[in-house]
Amino acid sequence: MGKPRIVILGAGYAGIMTAVTLQKKLRLDDAEIQLINKHAYHYQTTWLHENAAGTLADERTKIAIDQLIDPRKIEFIQDTVTHIDVDEKKINLVQSELDYDYLVVALGFEMETFQIPGLKEYSLSMGTSNQAKILREQVESQFATYTNTGANTHPLTIVVGGGGFTGVEYLGELTDQLSNLCKAHNVKQENVKIITVEAAPTVMPGFDSELGEYAMQYLEERGVEFRLGTKVKIVKRDYIVVEKAGAVEEIPTSAFIWSAGVRANKIMEKSGISNNKGSVKVNADLRAPGYHNVFVIGDCALIYSEDGETYPPTAQMTMQEAKVCASNLVKLMKGDVNLDAFYFKDRGTIASLGRKDAIGNIFNNRKTFGKEAIVLKQIIDNRVLYQIGGWPLLFKKGKFKLFH
Ligand code: FAD
Ligand code: NAD
Repeated sequence: MGKPRIVILGAGYAGIMTAVTLQKKLRLDDAEIQLINKHAYHYQTTWLHENAAGTLADERTKIAIDQLIDPRKIEFIQDTVTHIDVDEKKINLVQSELDYDYLVVALGFEMETFQIPGLKEYSLSMGTSNQAKILREQVESQFATYTNTGANTHPLTIVVGGGGFTGVEYLGELTDQLSNLCKAHNVKQENVKIITVEAAPTVMPGFDSELGEYAMQYLEERGVEFRLGTKVKIVKRDYIVVEKAGAVEEIPTSAFIWSAGVRANKIMEKSGISNNKGSVKVNADLRAPGYHNVFVIGDCALIYSEDGETYPPTAQMTMQEAKVCASNLVKLMKGDVNLDAFYFKDRGTIASLGRKDAIGNIFNNRKTFGKEAIVLKQIIDNRVLYQIGGWPLLFKKGKFKLFH
């Protein structure tokens, strides 16, 4: 019998962490491992709001996959998955077809569109490295083409739809970057409007309300206008239609940025695995129900807490899942069928508000703000790099500059 073949789909946090953990734990002849990803690089999704605002260069966020994997143990295939068939044990890629003995699905998230008319055509987002780049270029192009005076002058209006974690972190970076953008393109800052439209009565709903209030005040002081309890209903090329308590209004937009939530990769819907809009309610050992050889992890997996609530999809949870998935695969390679159950260890949540402030909830619900929170956020970012690529990656890509 040949070596068992493990195929890992996606090299985001889930896929790359599974791959690098497996290559540490398995010997050369234990398994044949293939890692499939659209691009030749992994990107730090949790940094994309910085790329999108232009406060961090795109290249800092991207890490070449061949720098992370040992080619003797893992074969990297740059290709796009088009179909998964778990009954036939077949994976279709654009350029070839694969089969497997064990599959790890780690294809991540897509922006949730809620079927809002015009959203796909006229909104910008920051769910992938390429989307973040396009967003930054489009906003910059609005500044580059803006004229301060003239009969038809309107404010340059940047509207953010969704004031959750992603929206708030982007606004923090954008407000940091605003004066640079204005200077570079000779735009008067008083001619720029930044509006956030949030459906819930608070920003970051579900998070600590005091911290949410702090974030909102911080951003308001930097010129952001919040429209709370207001839903985006329609998106057009240069305006959006919003609705608040039955009243409908049009808001003109120079750029409309959508950051109102995520969903699992649509590929999961036709995989044959039972799912809800692509999200797979996995077993305790992270396997798909009914498929002893298929693991689903990261933002494609739906995991319930002991209180019966679903955990929000985060990188923190994804990294923990990948380690359990890898150690369960090692067990299976060794013929041990008693797999480990996944338990989420919540190490707290920190959200940045640009370079000069951050908020968070850490160790037993202690709140943190300001410099402490900024330092903690950098430690988290650096720890992820270390986990993925050890000291060499940390020294190459790490964030060490404080309070700039
Ligand atoms: P992804 O990161 O989406 O990776 C999926 C990978 O699969 C990508 O490499 C993609 O290119 C590849 N792929 C997708 N489709 C295909 C295909 N068809 N074929 C081949 N390859 C494919 N969470 C936190 O815990 N802390 C944070 O501070 C934080 N900040 C965030 C900031 C932003 C701006 C965003 C958008 C999210 C943030 N999150 C944060 C959430 C976190 O990024 C996600 O939970 C995490 O990225 C999920 O990891 P993943 O590996 O499942 O998916
Ligand atoms: P989210 O679900 O956290 O927030 C989306 C927001 O959009 C919500 O506040 C929601 O009320 C709002 N919304 C939904 N529909 C709307 C509409 N039609 N009009 C106006 N507002 C609308 O999603 P996200 O911010 O994209 O984050 C995605 C995931 O990534 C979450 O699990 C989040 O926890 C995680 N994340 C974590 C961090 C961090 O820990 N620092 C940072 C970014 C993202």
